[in-house]
Amino acid sequence: MSHAYLGLGSNLGDRLLNLKMAIREMEKSDSISMLDLSPVYETEPVGKKDQPWFLNAVGLIETTLEPLRLLDDILGIERKMGRKRENKWGPRNIDLDILLYADLIMNSDRLTLPHPQMHKRKFVLLPLTRINPNLLHPLLKKNVTELLNECSDRSEVRLFEKTP
Ligand code: AMP
Repeated sequence: MSHAYLGLGSNLGDRLLNLKMAIREMEKSDSISMLDLSPVYETEPVGKKDQPWFLNAVGLIETTLEPLRLLDDILGIERKMGRKRENKWGPRNIDLDILLYADLIMNSDRLTLPHPQMHKRKFVLLPLTRINPNLLHPLLKKNVTELLNECSDRSEVRLFEKTP
């Protein structure tokens, strides 16, 4: 059994329902247990600005799946939900990322851990601090509270709903 933190995002369609559906799909899996969920935040798009605001949350899971199998599973959920996206930085109905998997550091064609952007994004760091303010980034050797305080991301992140 390993612990992993997953990032969830949506900025197309019924955003809150999309997050709830993704969580429901994960809960259906025998290999994944959802241990904790952050509040949901409404967040200004980073980079490509001319798109709707996102809803973002972070979940702590316990899983029997190895990292690449977990990636397959979450990509399967995205596919099942008919993930729509026009381009890499454009709007999408659901986006699921593995932020951290235990304290694993890896860099393969398909999977980079910790997620290479996580320490640069307020919409990831803020919800992570709400689950575990002492959570350590295994590569940067700083906890998520320190990373949030040092983060230069100035995009707006506001509380949307306490539980998805
Ligand atoms: P995106 O939809 O932009 O999040 O990109 C998805 C692709 O990024 C996947 O097909 C993965 O192969 C790759 N990827 C690399 N590292 C990660 C990670 N930590 N979590 C999720 N996807 C990842």
